[in-house]
Amino acid sequence: MAGETTQTEARGDAEAKARATLLWRCWPDGEKSCPRCRTVAPYTLAEGRLRCGACRYTFHDFTGRWLNLSGLTPGQWLDLARAFALDANTREAAEAANISYNTAFKALTVLRLAILAQGTDARQLFGPKTGLGDLIRGGKLCPAPDTPVGEVPVYGILSQGQRVFVDMVPELTAESVLHFNHNFHLRVARLGHILLTDRYKTYDGLILCGDDRLPYHYLLRHQGLPFADSGSPFWLYARDRLRQFKGLSARRFPLYLKELELRFNRQGEDLLPLFLDALCAPIPAAALA
Ligand SMILES: [Zn+2]
Repeated sequence: MAGETTQTEARGDAEAKARATLLWRCWPDGEKSCPRCRTVAPYTLAEGRLRCGACRYTFHDFTGRWLNLSGLTPGQWLDLARAFALDANTREAAEAANISYNTAFKALTVLRLAILAQGTDARQLFGPKTGLGDLIRGGKLCPAPDTPVGEVPVYGILSQGQRVFVDMVPELTAESVLHFNHNFHLRVARLGHILLTDRYKTYDGLILCGDDRLPYHYLLRHQGLPFADSGSPFWLYARDRLRQFKGLSARRFPLYLKELELRFNRQGEDLLPLFLDALCAPIPAAALA
């Protein structure tokens, strides 16, 4: 019995520490403000709730932030993010945080959305083209709708030295890639629903993830993958990871692509502080529109 009490106490301590870590990232200068109108110094109510003196909005410390889109405790979030920083897959991250696979899958979706929201292209990626915005409705994480995204977006891969940039190329669609392949012999390789192309304009290559509506049979296929000959460090890094993206839906694809960009650009760095900052950031209006 004594052992159990100590374990419970240790868990309680770990939770309190984890909560303090996340609180500090949410409110770095310790001054709290209303998530709606930004008025500072809210009243403290019972059970950790806060009320804005100006607009009367009742909230709590994590209201309106990414980490609040999941029911994970601060300790579970920390364990999950730590595992993910070490490149754990969903199953491994679930074990590390002692949560179910489905809960971990949802929480990692939140973390990937939060990472994507940190990018300068977040507004574009949360726009109507990707359908990513459908994953967050009414301030909640939602299952992806069955309806496919409209036109399949195309992303360009651009290397500069040891860094890579993955940008949406708004003027292109999956159909244009098929057209370039057929009529202009742009080399294209296929990995499941993913298409990868050879160099295109300033890009090292184009990449997209379509769905069954795309006429893949129309492709003039080439042996091998286009990037393979290019000696691109990004390609060497990405090729095995992309193979694991085979079952991804078109809607979730940009989440994994931006994660890949970040992991490549930050090799050798501790990703945990970056992940925690992303989780503690307010969800931008662009993601909720
Ligand atoms: Zn307010």
